[in-house]
Amino acid sequence: MSTQVLIAGAGPVGLMLACELGRSGVQVTVLERLAAPMRESRASLLNTCTAELLHARGFDSLLDPAQREVKTHFAGFPIDLSAAPSDYAGHFKVPQYVTEQVLGDEAQRAGVTLLRSRELTGIRETGDRVACAFDGPAGRVVLETEYLVGCDGAGSTVRRLAGFGASQRTATRELLRADVVDAGIRDRRFERLEGGFAVANTRRGVTRVMMHVRGHEPVRRQSPPAFSEVASSWKKVTGEDISRREALWADSFDNSYGQADCYRRGRVLLAGDAAHWHMPIGGQALNVGLSDAVNLGWKLAAAVTGWAPKGLLDTYDSERRAAAARVIRHVAAQETLMLGGAEVEPLRHVLSGLIAIEGAQHLIGLFCAGLDDRYGTQGDDGLAGRHMAHLRPGRVPGVLSPDLLTAAPTGVLVRFADPGQAAGDNPVRRTPAAQSVSLPNGAPLRIVRVAQPPGDGVTDVLLRPDAHIAWAGCGERRLSDALSQWFGAPLPDNHRGSRA
Ligand SMILES: Cc1cc2nc3c(=O)[nH]c(=O)nc-3n(C[C@H](O)[C@H](O)[C@H](O)COP(=O)(O)OP(=O)(O)OC[C@H]3O[C@@H](n4cnc5c(N)ncnc54)[C@H](O)[C@@H]3O)c2cc1C
Repeated sequence: MSTQVLIAGAGPVGLMLACELGRSGVQVTVLERLAAPMRESRASLLNTCTAELLHARGFDSLLDPAQREVKTHFAGFPIDLSAAPSDYAGHFKVPQYVTEQVLGDEAQRAGVTLLRSRELTGIRETGDRVACAFDGPAGRVVLETEYLVGCDGAGSTVRRLAGFGASQRTATRELLRADVVDAGIRDRRFERLEGGFAVANTRRGVTRVMMHVRGHEPVRRQSPPAFSEVASSWKKVTGEDISRREALWADSFDNSYGQADCYRRGRVLLAGDAAHWHMPIGGQALNVGLSDAVNLGWKLAAAVTGWAPKGLLDTYDSERRAAAARVIRHVAAQETLMLGGAEVEPLRHVLSGLIAIEGAQHLIGLFCAGLDDRYGTQGDDGLAGRHMAHLRPGRVPGVLSPDLLTAAPTGVLVRFADPGQAAGDNPVRRTPAAQSVSLPNGAPLRIVRVAQPPGDGVTDVLLRPDAHIAWAGCGERRLSDALSQWFGAPLPDNHRGSRA
């Protein structure tokens, strides 16, 4: 038995990666130890960056019915997301099991093989293959793969078996959470009280309560806390008695965090919670994991299909490890500011003044929206490495929308008219015509010609399939270099120098 890529774990990240690879024609097998899909709400917030990538991949059925909120918070301070440069500004509320179901359906349509009740238990690298052993209904089976990706969650077996190191901090604080029917208490957002921290939010008669008891040491748990423990903690923090109410469920989480020291060891890679984990403040974890999957998908497809330029696959590690490290720092800062005692009050005071400044509000808004990643330090144009959303405000309105990336997981070269040609009444084409070409090494590319005067000396924009700008500038020579760096070859002769 063999496959080109084996993914351990059919959580949202494994399924998204499977979709990306399947769309590129890669043979993919996903192993999942659970017999049936998970039914918990878990990470229920999709940010702007994720919404853009879901839209570009035809997952509007996830976004259209979702409740959208343009108000969010950083450490409890209000942040307005409406100014984000996207038609999808805001956060979309979607229970995690719904996201998983839609991604799972799409993966199957893309030809992915999903094997449930299969637990990966052993791996052995043999030159250009990885032999993976798993236990399932038919006993122990070994499957050979060109690449193995561990998307198997924070307690990742792949991370352990492949010998990845990880830096981590153990828990120092714990939060309890429950959904309580007819709780009979008032709603509150991020209340800092003498005894700890409390949140209550009621929807349709059910109140989600969340609390931290200051000074309470985290405990090692084998199962979720009983509601009596939640009620007793709530009383300690707020003085209110909810012990006679009924809870639909209760759970706990803590402020431990960690990250794998690298995301690739030879033919084994990590993505999602297997690579980084932290407290679920601000709903970043799932979104960071989905961006891992989209960053890795096209690079791994390029490696398997044979057109990847040297070093392309390694950029997954450098780009996404830095992105998650930044999120972990932001989450740790928020946790300290929200759960810390009187000692954090001066810091909160300073921060509240800073956040009121428009530029600071915008920067933190971009972080919350997931649009602030910048990969590498290429170029001095201020654009390369950024999400394509950064090209939109006032520069090329209406053209650089996620729709440019809908057709297939290829790069897109956007060629703007020369200033002379674009003079007069040339309209901005809102749905520019695209032409598919193959680069000399077989890499697929789409060229979109746009009749619009270029801004800031930019006549060409090269987009990666993950919606990041590979290069933006002018000049055939520099364009050829950028194409060779990211897609392995320059334009074919018959396409050089042609614009709108
Ligand atoms: C109880 C709980 C509550 C959470 N609540 C929130 C929240 O409120 N907000 C928030 O933002 N985030 C929350 N999270 C975090 C969020 O769910 C994760 O960030 C997200 O699921 C990460 O996706 P993933 O695909 O990387 O990993 P996971 O969703 O963990 O998926 C990993 C998959 O791998 C499978 N697997 C594991 N080991 C093996 C193996 N050896 N072989 C085969 N399959 C294997 C697992 O069964 C699982 O299906 C919560 C997580 C948990 C566990």
